[in-house]
Amino acid sequence: MTSRRTFIQIVPIAGLAMLASQHAIAADVDPKDPQAAALGYVADATKADKAKYPKYAAGQNCASCQLYQGKAGDASGGCPLFAGKTVAAKGWCSAYAKKP
Ligand code: SF4
Repeated sequence: MTSRRTFIQIVPIAGLAMLASQHAIAADVDPKDPQAAALGYVADATKADKAKYPKYAAGQNCASCQLYQGKAGDASGGCPLFAGKTVAAKGWCSAYAKKP
């Protein structure tokens, strides 16, 4: 019985630890990641491939994109296009959509 009770006590703690570690290890998207490359993601919007993505306009970046989930002032934040990763506030990709 003791081991069962111990198990019941450990499971929620392990779950919380996993959640915490998932949050902690959310790393910035690697621009070389296939999906990032397909979307033309760059960690520095000024380095966006303007020839390939003529819709890019100076001043656009993840922080002003509708899909950006970071808070104002954060260096990086989530983006639903890159689940489990973060994008740089100063980044950009071709799915950019200006916040209303
Ligand atoms: Fe950045 Fe928006 Fe592209 Fe996501 S969709 S990577 S927030 S520009």
